[in-house]
Amino acid sequence: MCVFCKIINGEIPSFKIYETEDLIAFLDISQATKGHTLIVPKKHYENLLALDDEMLKKISVAQKEVANILSNKLGTHSFNFVNNCGSTAGQSVMHVHFHVIPRYVNDDFKMHIVEHEPNFEELAKLHKQIIE
Ligand code: AMP
Repeated sequence: MCVFCKIINGEIPSFKIYETEDLIAFLDISQATKGHTLIVPKKHYENLLALDDEMLKKISVAQKEVANILSNKLGTHSFNFVNNCGSTAGQSVMHVHFHVIPRYVNDDFKMHIVEHEPNFEELAKLHKQIIE
C-alpha cells in the first residue's frame, strides 16, 4: 500500500487541515514554505491523467478552500499550485496529489520557467503537430 493510502487509512499519522468525503489535505512532511500542504484524493489514482473529471473538479474546489484557510491563518495571499505528473516531472509518490505552496516575500522556494527568445517558425511547426 502506498504512503498516502496508509495516511488515509490512519495507519500512519499526518497533520490534516481539511477533509471532505472524497479527499484530505495535510501538511507536507517537508515544508517547502510555511504551510505547504498536499491535497490527496482518498481513492488511489496514480496521477492527474488517471483522474475522472468529477474528482478533478472537487480537487479544484479544495485547492481554493485550502488556500483560503492558509491565507486566513498564515497571512499571505500568494500561492503556487503544483502538480508533478509522472516521474520525469518529479512525481515521487505515485498517488496523485496537489501541492498548495504559500508564498512569502523573500522565501526560498524556486519554480523557474526558463524564458527563451521566441522562434516563430518552430512555434508554427509545433502548433501544426499538435492540432493536426
Ligand atoms: P511529489 O514529488 O510531487 O511526488 O511530492 C511528494 C511529496 O510528498 C513530497 O513533497 C514529500 O515531502 C511528501 N511526503 C512524502 N511522505 C509524506 C508523509 N508521510 N507525510 C506528508 N508528506 C509526505
